[in-house]
Amino acid sequence: MYYPQSWSRTVIRFSVYLGGSLIVGIYLDNIALAILLAFGALLASNYVHLYRLTKWLWQSRTMSPPSAPGIWHHIYEGIYHLQRRNRNKRKNLGELVKRFREGSEALPDAVVVIDRNARIVWCNRNARIELGLRWPDDNGRRIDNLIRHPKFIEYLEGSDFQYPIEIPAPTNPLKTFEYRIMQYGEDQLLLIVRDVSRVSHLEEMRKDFVANVSHELKTPLTVINGYLEVLDSSYGEAPPIVSKAISEMGTQTHRMQSLIEDLLILSRIESSAERIFENTVDMQAMFKQISIEAEALNKEKQHHISFNVDSELVVYGVETELRSACSNLIFNAIHYTPQHGKIEVVWKSRANGAYFAVIDNGDGIEDKHLRRLTERFYRVDKARSRKTGGSGLGLSIVKHVLHHHNSTLEIESKVGKGSEFSFLLPQELIKQHDGA
Ligand code: ADP
Repeated sequence: MYYPQSWSRTVIRFSVYLGGSLIVGIYLDNIALAILLAFGALLASNYVHLYRLTKWLWQSRTMSPPSAPGIWHHIYEGIYHLQRRNRNKRKNLGELVKRFREGSEALPDAVVVIDRNARIVWCNRNARIELGLRWPDDNGRRIDNLIRHPKFIEYLEGSDFQYPIEIPAPTNPLKTFEYRIMQYGEDQLLLIVRDVSRVSHLEEMRKDFVANVSHELKTPLTVINGYLEVLDSSYGEAPPIVSKAISEMGTQTHRMQSLIEDLLILSRIESSAERIFENTVDMQAMFKQISIEAEALNKEKQHHISFNVDSELVVYGVETELRSACSNLIFNAIHYTPQHGKIEVVWKSRANGAYFAVIDNGDGIEDKHLRRLTERFYRVDKARSRKTGGSGLGLSIVKHVLHHHNSTLEIESKVGKGSEFSFLLPQELIKQHDGA
């Protein structure tokens, strides 16, 4: 404990000491010598205490300070107090670290703490088992020297940790691990690795199942459709009920065929490994082709369709996928806009990318539906969609195509006014002109 009066006591004690030596000096008739001796003794005594203090600080194993008189007692007490405070802090910190480590050890995931130079600071038991890290041998080693998958290295160097990545496990290629990196503390990163083999296996099975079933259904439907066409032409004079049945069966098989086509497109896009940077897409030619198809579809509704296309704007991407996305949005506008509507298709360059939009003045969509529109088989008005022959997969296909092209579908709609479906392909996908 610090006593402020200890200094005044020291000053009093020093004054008494000085006074005593003065009296001795007067008595011996040599004041200078007496004061010199008094200061010499004081200095020697302080040196002895300094020596004891240094010895206690550096050599003694005991925490409790040696006894000392006067101000030295307070210095010892002060240092002792500081030491105790630090020891308690260290203990609390140690407890905290211990609890954090115990918590991380209990996690079912592999956890690795790395510094900003990608050097391992700490890892839990699961990281040693699943990632093959050795502790403490790998302490301070670069994580990218131990997990050498190119996708992981790219992820680590990219410093965009918004989404996790999935790659085969380093210790067992049959397992799939999800790697997620998070900022941790000031300049550390937390790598969390989770075994997602089961989930990705189930996802694979689901995709394969849908693709296989759709493929298997194609052949019988083609056969049925073939026979229906034969029946339709051979029974021209059949009773009305028969020709109605044949025509209805024909319509329904066509619907099923287009549903299967869409399911196959969707599963192809979902599992597409095609690189979007490999080929450029001639968007102008693509829009020309789509406009011919749109005109054919527009015969009944007689909309005014305008294409406002920037012919210079060429992008990298997968042509079949972009064609599918754009045509789905354009054909939807034709289907869901009442007769003699106005539809505008825009393809132009913007400061932050290539912009595509389909704007119609149709009935619009209520807010509550907008969020769910891109779900598979979600329809605002089921009966109406069936009438248009829609499979309910169109916007889902668009969503997947755009995800593959690092973009998202934006939908703005006002009931009674119309809708705008748009997306922005990122700047990196725009092909720069030679010399630009
Ligand atoms: P569908 O095959 O039924 O057209 P989509 O996934 O393409 O399926 O569209 C989902 C639903 O979104 C449609 O059923 C329709 O209700 C609504 N929709 C899509 N485009 C438009 C549009 N331009 N105007 C109004 N509603 C639309």
